[in-house]
Amino acid sequence: MDRRTFLKRSLAGAGVVAGLGPLATRTWAEGKPEGGPSKQGVLKLGSQEGRIPGKSLREKVLRLAEWGGVGLEVGGNPRNRIKQIQEAIKGTKVKVSALCWGSAGGALVSPDKDRRNKGIEAMKSALETAGELGSTGVIFVPCFHRQSKLKPDELDKILLDILPAIGEFAQKCRSRVLLEPLNRRETFYIKTLGHAARICQQLNHPGLCMMGDFYHMGIEEKDDEAAFVAGGRWVHHVHLASRTRKLPGQDERSFVAGFRGLKRIGYQDYCSLECGIKRGTKPEEAIPASFRFLEKQWAEAKI
Ligand code: MG
Repeated sequence: MDRRTFLKRSLAGAGVVAGLGPLATRTWAEGKPEGGPSKQGVLKLGSQEGRIPGKSLREKVLRLAEWGGVGLEVGGNPRNRIKQIQEAIKGTKVKVSALCWGSAGGALVSPDKDRRNKGIEAMKSALETAGELGSTGVIFVPCFHRQSKLKPDELDKILLDILPAIGEFAQKCRSRVLLEPLNRRETFYIKTLGHAARICQQLNHPGLCMMGDFYHMGIEEKDDEAAFVAGGRWVHHVHLASRTRKLPGQDERSFVAGFRGLKRIGYQDYCSLECGIKRGTKPEEAIPASFRFLEKQWAEAKI
């Protein structure tokens, strides 16, 4: 399939899946000149801090760097660890990728205004931290199961209402919100990159973006490549895990189609391990082996 045919098909497909009108599709296409992505996609590997063995954060960072990792993903809002994190990455190629923040118990989409405002304040504080750490963004899940009784279209409306001001704040902090779609076992709400992309397109703000997680995508997406293409310029973080949510390469899950999608959109941000490890394997051997596996899959992803 040539690129033009692929693009046409995947845009049409993404439009159907996400329920996009022609306007939204045009917005995406405007950002991507004919003839390929404006930048060549890059594979910048990294990991959540908890996945890397080490007695101290510095030890973890040095190990990650030795294995070729360049992105450190930190959990929650590490407001009181900013200095420690900066010290830990000092003098290495490792930078802070995303903050894995979460849902604040669904507070930001709560019908209770006080609760919602508290959630928004917590998100703003995380965005400030993200900016100070030079992080790519704050990972945000509007709600997991049992965190909201509202319907998806009601939740869409709340996001469209609250996110513009948060996006402005994020931009001031030099960071962004990263909407994360999850699989149906974890949420009834945003499950596909197409849905997240539709919200980003409607908001159309550089402070309001999204990500993709290969584990959830393996359950929810029919086509990893088309899913990342649907996310397009809004995709600014990726989580890596195998089908069984172990290290990439520890089961049959292929990353090639997804990597083709990332190359098609000229992806520039991090791909970060968020996964367990196969029983009986040691992280000191299995993580670098997984990185080498991913580099091979990246090379196999031809566009
Ligand atoms: Mg994830």
